[in-house]
Amino acid sequence: MADPHDANNAPSAHITNFIRHIIDEDIQKNVYNGRLVTRFPPEPNGYLHIGHAKSICLNFGLARDYGGVCHLRLDDTNPSKEDDEYVQSIISTVKWLGFDWGEHLYHASDYFETLYQCAEKLIQLDKAYVEELSPDEMRAYRGTLTEPGKSSPWRDRPIEESLELFRQMRAGAFPDGAKLLRAKIDMAHPNLNMRDPAIYRIRHVAHQRTGNAWCIYPMYDYAHCVSDAIERITHSLCTLEFEDHRPLYEWFIGQLADAGMLERPLPKQREFSRLNLSYTVMSKRKLLELVQDKLVEGWDDPRMPTLVGLRRRGYTPASLRLFCERIGVSKADNWIDVSVLEECLREDLNVHARRAMAVVRPIKFIIENYPEGQTEWLEASVHPQYPERGVRRFPFGREVWIDADDFMEVPAKGFFRLSVGAEVRLRHAYLVKCTRVEKNEHGDITAIYGTYDPDTKSGTPGSDVRKVKGNLHWVEVTYAESIQVHLYDRLFSVPNPDTVEGSYRDYLNPQSFEKIQTAYIEHGHLDLATGEGVQFERLGYFCLDVPLEPRVEQRRVFNRSVSLKDTAKQKN
Ligand code: ATP
Ligand code: MG
Repeated sequence: MADPHDANNAPSAHITNFIRHIIDEDIQKNVYNGRLVTRFPPEPNGYLHIGHAKSICLNFGLARDYGGVCHLRLDDTNPSKEDDEYVQSIISTVKWLGFDWGEHLYHASDYFETLYQCAEKLIQLDKAYVEELSPDEMRAYRGTLTEPGKSSPWRDRPIEESLELFRQMRAGAFPDGAKLLRAKIDMAHPNLNMRDPAIYRIRHVAHQRTGNAWCIYPMYDYAHCVSDAIERITHSLCTLEFEDHRPLYEWFIGQLADAGMLERPLPKQREFSRLNLSYTVMSKRKLLELVQDKLVEGWDDPRMPTLVGLRRRGYTPASLRLFCERIGVSKADNWIDVSVLEECLREDLNVHARRAMAVVRPIKFIIENYPEGQTEWLEASVHPQYPERGVRRFPFGREVWIDADDFMEVPAKGFFRLSVGAEVRLRHAYLVKCTRVEKNEHGDITAIYGTYDPDTKSGTPGSDVRKVKGNLHWVEVTYAESIQVHLYDRLFSVPNPDTVEGSYRDYLNPQSFEKIQTAYIEHGHLDLATGEGVQFERLGYFCLDVPLEPRVEQRRVFNRSVSLKDTAKQKN
């Protein structure tokens, strides 16, 4: 049977959407002769974020479900903002999410020569010209939504002259910004994108792949659709802000196909709404600012919505794919609450994470009637719902760590955990009672003393003679492994930091990160694999902290991935 955790083989739930309807119709009409080719085309100018995951799951998911292929194409046409670091991260992140492009890894820069030849063809067809107006003049000539634009004086220059100048542009004869190649469409078009948009600009910048071979670079609107057509993409899916660019998309490839430069049937652009997630920002510009201004630790800060951040936080590929499936694809503007994402992680980890006990705010509990120097080994299941995963063994002794949060000297109303005189169960162990506390000169509790009832060992007959409400996690002191714990919360303190008054930076949540230097974990769990989740009973799901660039000895740092329950709904 197919492994349900391999995204390429996942038996999809086939939740239908308007894009699937379009594809079904295209198949029925045999528009593409049975082919389905999609692509994910990120620009390597930053790290991928959860919004990109939506696009990745959509494009690769369609290829998987319709027996097509999905290309990974790096849209690298703007070298001044792009970097190989981003390219490498994009490649490894899409792979990590569980998708496979086979041999179909492409770069827009692979097509620079073809893109150039196509541009020359547009000039020859009198569909493009070399512009010499300054950017300010061009803006003035462009008109507005209510007023038509005016033709540039260079618009009707002879074809031969434009062709010669364009060749000189390529040869490096002019400085940056001196000239531009523009499409010749319609300066009075109601859609501003159609008023003679730019095709090529001059940029004397080295490119991470083509080096100094080029000093002119194609504009996105031109390079993107022509790249799609070169790759014989059938369905070109993008976010709604490109809806107004669709006529231009069709114009470029339509002209070039008519001239025999591109093959029909041509790709069709379809738009869907982008993912917006509460309590975070998603634009690459803002994410870059957070990193550059050191408001977070880096691109992989576990509070970031980047996929490397989510991964370090403990998000699994399966949980992210589940999320993308659950939010669906439509044309409606939508805001998804971050709790939906968190719930997907819980659902995945609840099934896959092993169980263990850990104490995050340790305080010592000394069981005075337990023989000194004695240790006994208790056991509990690795996962309570999957007995076949076996049992884990851990020691019990005279001194155990318990969580300070589980103790109140004098219990508040409704507090059923440990307090002086109260009896609770230590999970998987015995009933214990607190008899007294020890305090330092400031009045802080330094240790808790009590007794246990040897006849109440968990799992033995009669162990639950007395009903108790508290059931505390604990870790035996001598075998406890010392770890650090990083507790994370939402990066912003408002649901929509993008649209609040002032800067989004004013709404960073000061409590989004808490570092706990000394916590203790049950013996035998330091072997956790990278990316593997563990449930610390009663505390939440955790994973090993594995930053992109290991900074210190990280084997003992655990990140809290998500709490056991939605704490926003239910303060515990
Ligand atoms: P940003 O606006 O965050 O800078 P972008 O759209 O410029 O992102 P690209 O690298 O061009 O980033 O995006 C690659 C693909 O991912 C595009 O097809 C884009 O439509 C899609 N994408 C980007 N952000 C989202 C999002 N929030 N939801 C869904 N798809 C997205
Ligand atoms: Mg973009």
